[in-house]
Amino acid sequence: TQTDIDKFKGFWRLFKLGVPIDRDAGKDFLDVSDALLEEVAKVLEFPVASMLPPEAFTVLRKSFDARKSQKEPKFVYTVEMDVDKLLNLEPRTWDFISRLEPKIGVIEHTPHEKVIGDLINIIHNNKKLNQDKVKGENGHTSSLNSYKLPSTKKAKIAVVGSGPSGLFAALVLAEFGVDVTLIERGQPVEKRGRDIGALVVRRILQTESNFCFGEGGAGTWSDGKLVTRIGRNSGSVLSVMKTLVRFGAPESILVDGKPHLGTDRLIPLLRNFRQHLQDLGCQCHFSVTVTVYVNVTTVSDSLFGSRVDDLIVENGHVVGVNVSDSSGRLGFSSEKLGFDAVVLAVGHSARDVYQMLLSHNTELVPKDFAVGLRIEHPQESINIIQYSKLANEVRSGRGKIPVADYKVVEYVKREDNNDTPQRSCYSFCMCPGGQVVVTSIDASELCINGMSFSRRASKWANAALAVTVSPKDFNDLGFHGPLAGVDFQREFEQRAAIMGGGNFVVPVQNVKDFMDNKLSASNIPSSSYRLGVKAANLHELFPVHITEALQHSIMAFDQELPGFISNDALLHGVETRTSSPVQIPRNPDTFESMSLRGLYPVGEGAGYAGGIVSAAVDGMYAGFALAKSLDLYKADD
Ligand code: FAD
Repeated sequence: TQTDIDKFKGFWRLFKLGVPIDRDAGKDFLDVSDALLEEVAKVLEFPVASMLPPEAFTVLRKSFDARKSQKEPKFVYTVEMDVDKLLNLEPRTWDFISRLEPKIGVIEHTPHEKVIGDLINIIHNNKKLNQDKVKGENGHTSSLNSYKLPSTKKAKIAVVGSGPSGLFAALVLAEFGVDVTLIERGQPVEKRGRDIGALVVRRILQTESNFCFGEGGAGTWSDGKLVTRIGRNSGSVLSVMKTLVRFGAPESILVDGKPHLGTDRLIPLLRNFRQHLQDLGCQCHFSVTVTVYVNVTTVSDSLFGSRVDDLIVENGHVVGVNVSDSSGRLGFSSEKLGFDAVVLAVGHSARDVYQMLLSHNTELVPKDFAVGLRIEHPQESINIIQYSKLANEVRSGRGKIPVADYKVVEYVKREDNNDTPQRSCYSFCMCPGGQVVVTSIDASELCINGMSFSRRASKWANAALAVTVSPKDFNDLGFHGPLAGVDFQREFEQRAAIMGGGNFVVPVQNVKDFMDNKLSASNIPSSSYRLGVKAANLHELFPVHITEALQHSIMAFDQELPGFISNDALLHGVETRTSSPVQIPRNPDTFESMSLRGLYPVGEGAGYAGGIVSAAVDGMYAGFALAKSLDLYKADD
């Protein structure tokens, strides 16, 4: 009866629906194919799959599963079913609905749909909900740090850094009507692209516009992987992903088990993001005396190239920043700008900012991170290792099957004793169809990372193999104090630069030779790294226990991925910037620094994120926390 059916109404999630490769809808991520409906029908015990209305089903997740434990590789789906939309079926067929029974991980019931929109929608809805409580520009009083803002004035907040954390903090604040100024030391994507071109082709490093600094932050010329360890299905991650879609990311990132953008898609997305911020009135620091609103065609030299060199602190409270023209072209050397609060979203390569914070007695704490080497294989080898015969069907991302990747981890007992947790060695920032790039911001230091374009069509696959290190490791090497981890990073970056012989040439070793501790001679395979490689014994880079952890783990990875150790695999030195070596303690509710009022440290540089999505989520939460202190946001969650 209808009453019986009502108990089952709402939404049901069906998990682990496997569709064979040849029957899959291919690139149409959101399509409910006939083959998928057949799998759905099996789970529902519904006799005629073709009678199920496709519109009752929404694809939530799609991944490719080629694990060796599978009989045959397949696409695996999670699908949401709306019971209301099934009620158009013949009532005689309804009894399958009353047989539905939740089973964790297979079929789950959510009586009410939780719709999560993009951030802009969320904020607009919240504003509507709280219209009566939110005061307008006039008559607004702020509770920000018990700091009374003039009642006729909007709060004026600087966001320093336009990486994912800064952009999302700025977006939330600007959507709430705050007077936001975004200050970025690097260049906008158009100009930054040319600077990066000059680096990878002519070895000209712009110290303020490179792989780490500039619009979009460190993640712009990256692999653009949007995988995150902070809970793929959480509301915060979903709203960040939906916001990215709003600014131009393909909808497939909402569904793909391993969402990926690639540099070519990130660039237009960032332009749209910038335009939206400007439409909201987000101010662009232009020169000493003029603050202008610029449109996208004339923005290039105005929003960017302004470096925050110092904080202006009065009575223990940040009241502004000292900005200098980092491009040398804006026609001023230094300018003081007043703000009610400063969101610090500078990433973890801005080592000068850490020094500056220390000069204000801001609390900084060294934290664990990981260092290691980047391994590169021919992509074809990884396809064969992962897919065996199916490897032939992988055609540079054009076919149904994605280029293969891998994720490996090995735990290594620490050499000292059991007091400290064991180390782990893991693959990090794996870039299938990508290339190795130089992420140094100083020519005397050498560090690398990986990037790719959306098609992941290069013939190489690279990944960092990183070993966890802790403050004890920094101390053992003679580095102490809050920035001991930074000194530790720098030590290996300088050693790598010397081993490469300068000019950003990267020291490399064939993985077999690394295992045998011997210098590679003629057996150096080709590398995607464009500025040249030089044979070196990478055992001379790290303390012996890190090298041994790497050797031990590579051996284990070869067991898991037979062929991982091969003559075609090349280790590149050095990977040091896996995450921040420092944390800036902050209040978990307000996001304000514990030691400096009015400072809001966010993102990776503050030690609260690692990766594009988690940095964006952190910036977003900081924006909401600030909006809450300004009485602009009322919700508790
Ligand atoms: P950042 O992105 O580092 O942004 C900080 C910004 O602040 C920069 O634009 C910088 O120029 C600016 N800034 C610094 N100091 C100042 C100052 N004094 N004044 C004004 N502005 C300043 N993560 C992933 O999740 N997926 C990937 O595929 C991926 N690939 C990567 C590839 C590469 C080559 C690199 C370098 C990183 C990659 N990452 C990836 C990591 C990811 O980019 C970072 O985790 C993320 O960008 C951190 O965001 P953030 O906003 O905290 O800081």
